[in-house]
Amino acid sequence: MGSVQSVAVVGAGMVGLATAWHLQEHGVQVTVLDREGVAAGASWGNAGWLTPAFVAPLPEPALLRYGLRALVSPKSPVYAPLAADRNLARFMAGFLRHSTHARWQESMRSLLPLVREALPAFDHLRAEGVSGEVLRADPVVAAFPRVAQAGPLTDELEHIAEVGGTVAYELVSGQVARRLAPVLADSIQAAVLVRGQRFINPVTYVHSLADAVRARGGSVVEGAEVVGVRSGPDGVVVEVGGAEGSAEGGGRFDAVVVATGAWLGRLCAPLGVTRVVQAGRGYSFSVAADPVPEVPVYLPTARVAVTPLGDRVRVAGMMELRRPDARFDHRRVTAIVDSVRPLLQGVDLDSRRDEWVGSRPVTIDGLPLIGATEASGVFVAGGHGMWGVTLGPVTGRLLAEQVVTGRTPDALRPFDPLR
Ligand SMILES: Cc1cc2nc3c(=O)[nH]c(=O)nc-3n(C[C@H](O)[C@H](O)[C@H](O)COP(=O)(O)OP(=O)(O)OC[C@H]3O[C@@H](n4cnc5c(N)ncnc54)[C@H](O)[C@@H]3O)c2cc1C
Repeated sequence: MGSVQSVAVVGAGMVGLATAWHLQEHGVQVTVLDREGVAAGASWGNAGWLTPAFVAPLPEPALLRYGLRALVSPKSPVYAPLAADRNLARFMAGFLRHSTHARWQESMRSLLPLVREALPAFDHLRAEGVSGEVLRADPVVAAFPRVAQAGPLTDELEHIAEVGGTVAYELVSGQVARRLAPVLADSIQAAVLVRGQRFINPVTYVHSLADAVRARGGSVVEGAEVVGVRSGPDGVVVEVGGAEGSAEGGGRFDAVVVATGAWLGRLCAPLGVTRVVQAGRGYSFSVAADPVPEVPVYLPTARVAVTPLGDRVRVAGMMELRRPDARFDHRRVTAIVDSVRPLLQGVDLDSRRDEWVGSRPVTIDGLPLIGATEASGVFVAGGHGMWGVTLGPVTGRLLAEQVVTGRTPDALRPFDPLR
């Protein structure tokens, strides 16, 4: 089209910044606005796994088998407090409707084109000068106290393969697993090794993306809360409130991309995006480890990820279905600590630092919302749930193409935000 020259991107998380960077590839002048700052949302304290092998739609029959009773126990790794809000009730109804094997397969097929391009998209950023380090996770070690407990994970990997995904894994003993990841306690008797994955320090990586956007002439405005997006005949107007009422960063643009993570509904519901985006809040903290493992460790029975980060490891887990701005709940950290204590050794779980809560943007069908809204020139990128870090760069590449050319790439069709 050649007419899109200036674009505002709302949200400086992985998804927003990756989209801004790819818009710059098309020669677009970008302004990224965040009400707090770079990586202020879920892109900060997540596990940093770039693991296409694990990307799958969240609604699945096993979650139903897991039982709704477990949902209301604060100790459970998936927790929905009874004092539910209307958004949560709508979300749960839709989510349960999608938790069938047939729907899971359909959604999984839709995700595959993104999954296949996820790691090449990181290679491209690296080749074009984004400095953030991407480390090999070869393998990711998924560890279990009992051999039989590996079944649900290997079943899921097989189901992914059935619809065309490629996953290389092998089942090994606890001893083999401990050699790869000495943080695993003697209680671990089996592990599934998943090859060919990667990981990052999400904070430094997302900052390196912001630096690259700035270095190429874009601006990243922090402390700019977008309170409204209106489209009209002369483009799209972005209204910025901000703590001090400053309007810096707002104004008129040829197009706008809303990438506000778990807060997507606030700006996008009036633009025809009626799908609920529910916050699936996760908690993380870092602890000293001796030695620090070289590869990421997954503890499926506790639903916890352990990622090497410098001389410490980050421990991340929990899925708390609550409002994204709800207060930090220390009981969740205690629940994570209690669940991993028998599974790990050589880590000082009482030397916790950087305790954090952040919101995965979760949708009822487990698919992201990427594409145009009802309002001309306004686009959405988000709702990637558990996998927005892995899928951020490929999302940015495809959406930038759509914004600039006006054509929807085939790979994005299933993620129509107006579905
Ligand atoms: C514990 C945990 C572990 C995870 N582990 C992984 C993992 O290993 N691998 C993986 O791929 N994914 C992982 N995820 C998921 C991943 O973190 C998210 O999917 C991803 O970060 C979402 O990125 P985003 O850019 O869409 O949203 P965010 O990173 O949340 O960014 C949204 C931004 O929008 C800003 N914003 C909101 N409203 C406004 C407004 N009105 N005006 C201006 N700015 C606004 C916020 O300040 C925020 O910075 C994990 C998540 C959690 C919680």
